[in-house]
Amino acid sequence: MTGQTEFIPSRTEALKNLSDFLPKAGRNYAARRNYDFGAGRHHEVSKLSPYLRCRLITEREVLRAVLNRHSEKAAEKFIQEVFWRTYWKGWLELRPSTWRHYQTGLATAWNNVQTQDGLRDRWGAACRGDTDLECFNSWAHELVSTGYLHNHARMWFASIWIFTLRLPWELGADFFLRHLLDGDPASNTLSWRWVAGLQTPGKTYLARASNIAKYSDGRFRAERQLADAAPPLTGPPHPPPTPLRPPLTVQRDLKTGLLLHHDDLSPGFLLETLRPVSLCQLRHDNGFSPLTPSPLVTEFRHAATNETATRFAHRFETTAIAGSVEDLLDWSARENLQQIIMAEAPVGPIATLLQDFANHPQAPRLCAVRRPYDALTWPLATKGFFSFRKSIPNVLSQII
Ligand SMILES: Cc1cc2nc3c(=O)[nH]c(=O)nc-3n(C[C@H](O)[C@H](O)[C@H](O)COP(=O)(O)OP(=O)(O)OC[C@H]3O[C@@H](n4cnc5c(N)ncnc54)[C@H](O)[C@@H]3O)c2cc1C
Repeated sequence: MTGQTEFIPSRTEALKNLSDFLPKAGRNYAARRNYDFGAGRHHEVSKLSPYLRCRLITEREVLRAVLNRHSEKAAEKFIQEVFWRTYWKGWLELRPSTWRHYQTGLATAWNNVQTQDGLRDRWGAACRGDTDLECFNSWAHELVSTGYLHNHARMWFASIWIFTLRLPWELGADFFLRHLLDGDPASNTLSWRWVAGLQTPGKTYLARASNIAKYSDGRFRAERQLADAAPPLTGPPHPPPTPLRPPLTVQRDLKTGLLLHHDDLSPGFLLETLRPVSLCQLRHDNGFSPLTPSPLVTEFRHAATNETATRFAHRFETTAIAGSVEDLLDWSARENLQQIIMAEAPVGPIATLLQDFANHPQAPRLCAVRRPYDALTWPLATKGFFSFRKSIPNVLSQII
């Protein structure tokens, strides 16, 4: 399977996608968003997720643009979907051990793949899209070759992976994270857990042939091929929410560098009152999988980071690229930096790498600045989405 993605990694392209989609973000979206017409025909959804994932465009920008065009009532469904992303982010920030728990489960499952021939064959066939299920194979091919899957296809795929093919859910989540351009520790891990019955305990998602036939526009017939029950997997109870890390205060009198990373490529809010002297792009490609991420994902993130750095470069005396803690130490020493500022990276590989850097005795102080949108919304994700949802009007009134 060779890769060819329609997603061009630039802010201009993100803004174009948004403006092309805006007329459809109202009642049309509510009525049509569940239809998956297949690769190259996802015209009823926004396809903004690769851009939102790395914040080439922010949630706030998208919400503002939508509310400029539609009433809150007409765009209710689309707004809610954007807030699902926000909710999952907040939920994981308040319970970071869930990410570590997933990584431990993945390491065990990966060890089993390497030591059990039968499991390795079944996992390999699923990832290659070489099973007896035409629909599943088609989604695997689409994901690998384009870096995108419709939400409904993600739900069907995850359900079939877990309940029909009976493969470990962590390996499926890993397959998605390696291939989705929008692959995101919070949305991906927690959505897979939701399908498996681990996130909303006892509640699973069962893919049904009739639902697939209807919403794939009759492209797939899977009668008598799918599991007819989805018994929930079991796992430890949710950890209680823990307080968010209190961010370090930025000091204005220190020689400062700006670190740019693909968890947040809208650094403008950091530069409103500060004048860092040097800009460094962080290129951290993995840290989440025992396997190599798809070149489509790596190239998209490198190019998006580079495009952002190029747009902002004129504000800095020097620029650099770093891929490791050692590179970051070299950059800080070379530039005599006393402080590094960055948009806070949420739970995931970048936050883990930067924690290692911050703990190094030679590192300057590292200030991860929390974006006001995150500061406002993350603390609200203490319970389920339906409780979180009640805060949406209040959040909107503060950000619009
Ligand atoms: C098993 C599974 C894994 C998933 N993995 C990811 C992932 O790694 N990264 C990711 O961004 N989304 C993930 N999702 C959520 C959702 O499928 C995608 O966000 C959505 O399909 C992106 O396409 P779009 O931009 O065209 O969405 P639209 O329908 O146009 O929605 C607009 C925006 O709202 C957000 N959104 C929409 N639906 C959801 C949702 N269910 N959960 C969270 N945010 C949502 C996205 O940011 C999206 O860009 C996953 C869903 C499932 C079921």
